Amino acid sequence: MQFENSREFARQLDKEDKLSKYRNEFIFPKVNGKDVIYFVGNSLGLQPKTAQRYVDEIMKDWAELAVEGHFYAEKSWWDYHERFSQKLARVVGANPAEVTVMNTLTVNLHLLMVSFYRPSGKRYKIICEEKAFPSDQYMISSQVRFHGYDPKDAIVEIKKRDGENNFRTEDVLAKIEEVGEECALVLIGGVNYYTGQVFDMATITKAGHDAGAFVGWDLAHAAGNIELKLSEWNVDFAAWCSYKYMNSGPGNASGCFINKKYHNKKDIPRFEGWWGHNKERRFLMEPEFQPEPTADAWQISNAPILAMAPYLASLEMFDEVGMPALIEKRNKIVAYLEYVLHEIDKDVDSSFEIITPADQDKRGTQLSVFLHGEGKELFRYLMDQGVITDWREPNVIRLAPAPFYCSFEDMYEFGQILKEGILNKQKV
Ligand SMILES: *Cc1c(COP(=O)(O)O)cnc(C)c1O
Repeated sequence: MQFENSREFARQLDKEDKLSKYRNEFIFPKVNGKDVIYFVGNSLGLQPKTAQRYVDEIMKDWAELAVEGHFYAEKSWWDYHERFSQKLARVVGANPAEVTVMNTLTVNLHLLMVSFYRPSGKRYKIICEEKAFPSDQYMISSQVRFHGYDPKDAIVEIKKRDGENNFRTEDVLAKIEEVGEECALVLIGGVNYYTGQVFDMATITKAGHDAGAFVGWDLAHAAGNIELKLSEWNVDFAAWCSYKYMNSGPGNASGCFINKKYHNKKDIPRFEGWWGHNKERRFLMEPEFQPEPTADAWQISNAPILAMAPYLASLEMFDEVGMPALIEKRNKIVAYLEYVLHEIDKDVDSSFEIITPADQDKRGTQLSVFLHGEGKELFRYLMDQGVITDWREPNVIRLAPAPFYCSFEDMYEFGQILKEGILNKQKV
């Protein structure tokens, strides 16, 4: 499609956009009395208008039913988490039994490593990407030390080539082959948080298995953003937070995927609690643990219902729209943003370098842009003008126009504000 950098053209794209009505289903913060242009749905998604009602429902049930709410609330609490499995399974390409909601992301990765990082003999190394999200680095390092190994030896990082912004699949595969029978686990972020690069999860998972390792994915930046087929790719485990693209609210519960081949296994190590116990017999308070025959066996505590309510509200919208429609709009709006950036680049002295892959199959919603010659004052200028972006030192902005609520006109408007900000600075 031939794009134009004009308000009329952007408005025309909004008119043709089948998802445009969903913008009104979210609450936008305001700056100078106007809705912000929100580019940080990859960090904290906006609040769906339905979220409040879902929370109020729980508060009301708690007030009116108290403990009886566990069984007699309209959305009973004892099995509240089960309302997620079908819908979440559709978001991540899984069988509903393979998906559960519990705890938070880093906690879940630790718990999943109890099952899937079991170093022994020669096989004790973990392969991950260099400069992984810090929480993942701390998590992996502490796991390795917990098992008595030295992180310098036991953690093998996949590197980018000098001068390149993204990882090459061939380099990931070569590293897996090189570590070979020393590799216990491959654990990578499915979408890189810094560049927005999407890893070839199917190919890498297969290579990890060929080397005899378990393969897990941190899907913090992938869930609700890209097409996932966790079952088909035969991934062993995965976890994601829900507050980024999935709009569930700050610090909210994490989703987990555990491949069905590990369900009903007696010999799999796992940290257990009563919410993983056979649900028909949970309240008989029997001494011996009987695992649920699903991913729910990994649950430990009873679910934080108040937190899960907005997640459920958001998930119902995902289910109504479906990932294919979100991805179709995503591709178009990200391509339009990319085009606008290139157009603005022609009019200013500083230069933009988009470090996110140009290929739509290798990226999701996020464009990470090096603003050569610009500094943090530009970021502040954008904030003052009601454009919320994410700034990473030295001078990278991450722009993620979430397809649920961002408009094409936002992209045009952003381009104008950006240009103004750079030109004004160049004048002084
Ligand atoms: C956002 C993010 C996290 C956050 O972890 P929490 O446990 O939810 O605080 C972890 N890993 C990655 C890759 C992330 O992008």
